[in-house]
Amino acid sequence: TIQKWVLGNWKMNGRLATNEALLSQLGQIDTDEKVAVGVAVPSVYLLPSLQAAQNVLVGAEDVSRFAADGAYTGEVSAAILADIGAQFTLIGHSERRQYFAEDEAVLAQKYANAVAAGVLPVLCVGETLEQREANQAQAVVAEQLSWLKDAVLLNQTVLVAYEPVWAIGTGVVASIEQIAQMHAFIQEHVLSLVGNAANIRLLYGGSVNADNCAAIFAVAHVDGALVGGASLKADSFANIITAAI
Ligand code: 13P
Repeated sequence: TIQKWVLGNWKMNGRLATNEALLSQLGQIDTDEKVAVGVAVPSVYLLPSLQAAQNVLVGAEDVSRFAADGAYTGEVSAAILADIGAQFTLIGHSERRQYFAEDEAVLAQKYANAVAAGVLPVLCVGETLEQREANQAQAVVAEQLSWLKDAVLLNQTVLVAYEPVWAIGTGVVASIEQIAQMHAFIQEHVLSLVGNAANIRLLYGGSVNADNCAAIFAVAHVDGALVGGASLKADSFANIITAAI
């Protein structure tokens, strides 16, 4: 079984030639079957990335809330993702929540669509600095997880990425204590929602790099990382993967 997940999120970055070089370098890393490595890529790069990837999962950064084919210009459904072989999709990244006003009802639909299509959803949660300072971090995250109760089927893998908004792209990584506290909370909360028949895996995201990843991976209930900026550099991402093995 997979013990650690190391996923990159390219966000709105990449070009055909550099993507291929990056994936080929990642393919050369000596991994272990206990570690799953993946990258979430802009949707137009899914197919060439899937073709170039070796021992690396390739997933989407988002999926449509609409399930059925139809007149939804610009949208990419979970069924289309499944059709081209995308293995997972991020859901509810804070940038989607912020810039596209995705709310819990929309995210629950996206999650259900991914599950129905056989594309593994990776649910991203996390509080803003303002919410943390107001002592609302756990309440905010609990709300973001609440609908999992109706979304998760038996024996499913539930992947949740805790990404405090204030740690994303800022170089300000959450402290070990903050990560430990929130991951323990999320583990317990998800367990209370979906029961122990599901396989719960929690990733930390937010300014993870080659220097801080080992300490983060050592924290209880940290089963991997979701890496933004450092996943765009082969050396950094390779070091993070190696630290997870
Ligand atoms: P950074 O690693 O660049 O902080 O981004 C984290 C993130 O948003 C991954 O989804």
